[in-house]
Amino acid sequence: MKTFRFLDVASTYFTLRSDLDAAYARVMNAGWFVGGPELDAFEADFARYCGARFCVGVGNGLDALVLPLRAFGVGAGDEVIVPANTFIATWLAVAMAGARPVPVDADPATMNIDLARIEAAITPRTRAIMPVHLYGAPVVCGGLRALAGEHGLKLVEDAAQAHGGMEGGRRVGTLGDAAGFSFYPGKNLGAFGDGGAVVTDDPALADAVRMLGNYGARVKYHHDSAGGNSRLDSLQAAFLAVKLKHIDAWNRQRQAIADVYLRRLAGNADLRLPMAAPGTQAVWHLFVIRHLARDALRDKLAARGVETALHYPIANHRSGAFAATHGRDDFPVTDAICASCLSLPIGPHLSVEDADEIAGIVHETVCEL
Ligand SMILES: *Cc1c(COP(=O)(O)O)cnc(C)c1O
Repeated sequence: MKTFRFLDVASTYFTLRSDLDAAYARVMNAGWFVGGPELDAFEADFARYCGARFCVGVGNGLDALVLPLRAFGVGAGDEVIVPANTFIATWLAVAMAGARPVPVDADPATMNIDLARIEAAITPRTRAIMPVHLYGAPVVCGGLRALAGEHGLKLVEDAAQAHGGMEGGRRVGTLGDAAGFSFYPGKNLGAFGDGGAVVTDDPALADAVRMLGNYGARVKYHHDSAGGNSRLDSLQAAFLAVKLKHIDAWNRQRQAIADVYLRRLAGNADLRLPMAAPGTQAVWHLFVIRHLARDALRDKLAARGVETALHYPIANHRSGAFAATHGRDDFPVTDAICASCLSLPIGPHLSVEDADEIAGIVHETVCEL
């Protein structure tokens, strides 16, 4: 039986082997492993790619959210508005900055934060809004920028799942005051290890993030602030520079696969399909369908060789980390997504023909249920 892998993070090594091996040899021969020209070059490339003025490499995607919050002065006693439906890192970033995440339930159509409910969540303690371009689908940020401006709030994008996405002709990463990206291996642009970056047009913010990630020092041994250590290492930067040249082609491949799924699964009344909000260009980090008999569907697909995953099976407000701070029934749309979501395989390791076969299997299986 043919099997369809959900994810294959090694596949890009085999397709780009000679360029990646050359990058590795260059870094090893130069003997410069933290910072230096490889990091500078990747930061310039990624800033240009996003259409932003600055990019600061950091240790991982979580830090890429924590550091801009800290740099904007968000801390104890403050609140940050986050989506209820997101990977837990979004909430943890707020908690790590010392502030309180204030979740807003999801829009059932886009599964992203419900824009209509954000204003009601603003209090005198709110300092920032952190929209997440979940599953690679950009949040429409125009109205959020206006709302943030009216209330004196910072808009910090969690762009960990949406490298290359667009909204209204602008790239994800330039839709707010700052954005955090993750280069975790499974992301659309993934390193061969951990990595992240903060992208911004604000020179003071870029400077503060770099300072906070470098022991609070701008000049060696002059520790102006109680910062920490969060840096993108030279080897990962060199690998990422190679992979960045291919991100648009990979995202187009994801779009082609998503188009097949959307077309072939459209007629099925029991399935709910994902969508990109009007005016946005999604990059399909994940393709999340919903079905009320999700677990049975998942088992049957596995038996037919289709690997799937769940994003996410347990809502953050029900997790051990946050259950004490939220009512169990506060976020019904998010709960419904958690109970019914199923992520189909998508990514550059799959062909359009694979997607067609997978769609056929999903369609047959749903009809049998
Ligand atoms: C992956 C991810 C993060 C965290 O990135 P890491 O590099 O794993 O720290 C943050 N937010 C979202 C939405 C993510 O998917």
